[in-house]
Amino acid sequence: MSKKMTMQEAITEAKRCLNCSRPLCRTGCPIENNIPEFVRALSEGNIGTAYETIAERSNLPAICGRVCAHEKQCEAHCILAKKNSAISIGSLEMFIADFAHEYGLNPVPPSTGKRGKVAVIGSGPAGLTVAGDLAKMDFAVTIFEGQPEPGGVLLFGIPEFRLEKDVVRREINILRKLGVEIITNKLIGPDMTVDDLFAQGYDAIFMGTGTALPRTLDIPGQELSGILTATYFLRVVVLADSGKLDKREVLIHDDDDVVVIGAGNVAIDAARTAVRRTTGSVTVLYHKTAKDMSCLPSEYEAALQEGVQFKFLKKPLGYLNKKQMRALTNTRAKASPADETELAGLLVQNIVKDQDGKFVETGGQEIIPCDAVILAVGQRPAARIVSTTKGIQVDDRGFVITKERPYGMTTRAGVFSSGDVVHGPKTVVLAMKESKKVAAGIAQYIDAKKLLAECEE
Ligand SMILES: Cc1cc2nc3c(=O)[nH]c(=O)nc-3n(C[C@H](O)[C@H](O)[C@H](O)COP(=O)(O)OP(=O)(O)OC[C@H]3O[C@@H](n4cnc5c(N)ncnc54)[C@H](O)[C@@H]3O)c2cc1C
Repeated sequence: MSKKMTMQEAITEAKRCLNCSRPLCRTGCPIENNIPEFVRALSEGNIGTAYETIAERSNLPAICGRVCAHEKQCEAHCILAKKNSAISIGSLEMFIADFAHEYGLNPVPPSTGKRGKVAVIGSGPAGLTVAGDLAKMDFAVTIFEGQPEPGGVLLFGIPEFRLEKDVVRREINILRKLGVEIITNKLIGPDMTVDDLFAQGYDAIFMGTGTALPRTLDIPGQELSGILTATYFLRVVVLADSGKLDKREVLIHDDDDVVVIGAGNVAIDAARTAVRRTTGSVTVLYHKTAKDMSCLPSEYEAALQEGVQFKFLKKPLGYLNKKQMRALTNTRAKASPADETELAGLLVQNIVKDQDGKFVETGGQEIIPCDAVILAVGQRPAARIVSTTKGIQVDDRGFVITKERPYGMTTRAGVFSSGDVVHGPKTVVLAMKESKKVAAGIAQYIDAKKLLAECEE
């Protein structure tokens, strides 16, 4: 996990770099940031050059510095990782981006907008990357965002204690300075279609619409109140904390006992957010072992330190209301009108890992009392655009199908896509990596289209 550094700490850390002749850190970075160069510039106290170097490959360095899985990527490839003392590349990236903001360093000139006109749908990491890269290539770019504010998961998913919302806003403002126009509260599909956008003269359209629909569990009791999805919970917390929603809408109350189902980063973020809002217990429930969890080990450690409990090898079988809980646990509490509508517990199957490493359901059942369940069991794309546009094919799970040439084009000519809506829920930097390639594909497509039109004239 990255930590904030003073200038002295950052320069001292950068000076530890061994300046390898064949630096492996860069190969560990999905967007091939020129890490050796920015670390060298920083070690010489040249923070302007360090920022310029980062800005060549990334439009979101302050964000990547905070939320990328450095311990699995660049830092894991650092030669010093073998001695357990890898250079803290994430913290250095964060220091350089924050310093550049504080001192108003902005190395890239605004787009002339002369090369063509592109509409970008969605303003998560995918949309922001495509918009930034195309603006740097002199395209005129307009982002259409369905939410009242741009940022996607960066703003409405990842909690404030891991990624400050002001940091997201300021990196988006750098794109505005590049000339990118952002129109919010415009949901493409219901409000306006892809065909409407083409009719407005856009040369190409990019869809970076993410995975808006949360998956749920098909088990008895789903209709009870007190069951919510992690993405909804995290979103209402952001809105409530920024005063845009009544705090009572958050649905986790002061002394609630909360169970979070799942074991990825979304589950851990939901649990760490819940533990900050209740004096009751917060328990993460997972059907495999700690080693099988897909969250970062550092996130797991942080959750444990904050008081989140973990129950492994438990599979949810059903949600229980108060009446069922009374019957199953033999308690004699008085009946109340909410008895059959409110969640009061979870019935789980204990799992055993057998000698062959297989998970088998032979461990008997258990009841876990709880007032709220937060589901973090995956997401899938909404179909707002594909259902209102002819020719954009999706796979059987709803993910958009794209081509290699021009890179990222969908089955509809001129419509491109990348990010979670194409490859499923992954990471910020993977959405950025793919979107950089798609921005290049869009530029090629528009240049070729214009050349052809000129030849025909
Ligand atoms: C809680 C949580 C924590 C995470 N933590 C991390 C982390 O620490 N590190 C990491 O690397 N990754 C993390 N991820 C994953 C990462 O955030 C995603 O992989 C990434 O945001 C995907 O980017 P995207 O641009 O494809 O989609 P999104 O970020 O989902 O953005 C899609 C945007 O499109 C907009 N949109 C959708 N449909 C329309 C429409 N029809 N019209 C207009 N706008 C539309 C949405 O409102 C949204 O703003 C996390 C994800 C979650 C949910």
